[in-house]
Amino acid sequence: MTERVYNFNPGPAVLPLDVLRQAAADLVDYQGVGMGLIEMSHRSKEFIAIIDNAESLLRKLLGIPDNYKVLFLQGGASSQFYMVPMNLLGPDKAAVYLNTGTWAKKSIKEAQAFGRITVAYSSEEDNFNRVPAHDEYLVADDAEYLYLVSNNTIYGTQFPSFPGNGKMLVSDMSSDILSRKIDVSRFGLIFAGAQKNLGPAGVTIVIIRDDLLDKCPPSLPAMLNYKTHADKGSMFNTPPCFAVYVVGEVLKWLDDMGGVEVMEKRNEEKAALLYNEIDRTPYYRGHAEKLSRSRMNVSFKLPSTELESRFIGEAAALGLQGLKGHRSIGGCRASIYNAFPVEGVYKLVAFMQEFEAANPA
Ligand code: PMP
Repeated sequence: MTERVYNFNPGPAVLPLDVLRQAAADLVDYQGVGMGLIEMSHRSKEFIAIIDNAESLLRKLLGIPDNYKVLFLQGGASSQFYMVPMNLLGPDKAAVYLNTGTWAKKSIKEAQAFGRITVAYSSEEDNFNRVPAHDEYLVADDAEYLYLVSNNTIYGTQFPSFPGNGKMLVSDMSSDILSRKIDVSRFGLIFAGAQKNLGPAGVTIVIIRDDLLDKCPPSLPAMLNYKTHADKGSMFNTPPCFAVYVVGEVLKWLDDMGGVEVMEKRNEEKAALLYNEIDRTPYYRGHAEKLSRSRMNVSFKLPSTELESRFIGEAAALGLQGLKGHRSIGGCRASIYNAFPVEGVYKLVAFMQEFEAANPA
């Protein structure tokens, strides 16, 4: 096999090599059944075991209480931007949103079609370089929920903690699910596209408190109603079998690694290595304010766009790939999700030091 590069892409992103190898074998012959993984019926006992196992591992690893349902849906995380308000709001109902980046902004726009939306905080004027402290915004009493994006993939900001104001939380955790311990019981709904910390693109996990399912308007199209999927165990229609399988294998890997607590420690270590380097020299400028720094996506700039292009090109030639920042903010971004190895972070830090020495500002 070609030597593996260090893959800093923001998603789809690096997955554990053992998971890829197992998937490659199972794709051709699933555990000796004489059929490949993606040829099997989704109603077969093999696939039912796969989806049940993925769900029970997710429940174990995140500590999901029994009064929550886990759904495996399609349509990407972006479909949740409208499914959440369609199901949980109505024309006379209100919700509060925090505008901390592109994905929050998109979900606000979608929600406005389905309820009264208040944007209680926005860091847009500062190019989304921070998330608010919890006393920086007000949540109206009549709001059904407070919506926040726990980790802002593009800007490299992350809520260090979640508000404890008693309001039901709804969170897009696409880019940091399973990267740290959370108390699921504070959330009415959590969703995450799989393609960062969980597996391949194609499946979106929704964790929803079961009393909310009774609020989903029966008039919604069946596919857009959470209750449909909850009632049918995510088997109302053909689920994205391959993506669900890979998620299950990633969860097994995570469990074998020691679970979320071990991952959280590893993620803190990896992020600290990069932020220490950014803090060591003015040559690299972090985008996020210190208290808002993400442990998943580290966004930074160099003294000029020319130096940034050279940096990204030379890094790629050394096997440090995917460091180009999102087009909306430019610069560089190192995405260091759960499966990203610490050795790659050491290699990037060493390269940052060599590059600075060789290319004075
Ligand atoms: N939310 C967040 C936090 C994201 O990072 C992304 C994608 N990068 C999305 C939502 C959109 O996900 P999808 O492409 O699966 O619709």
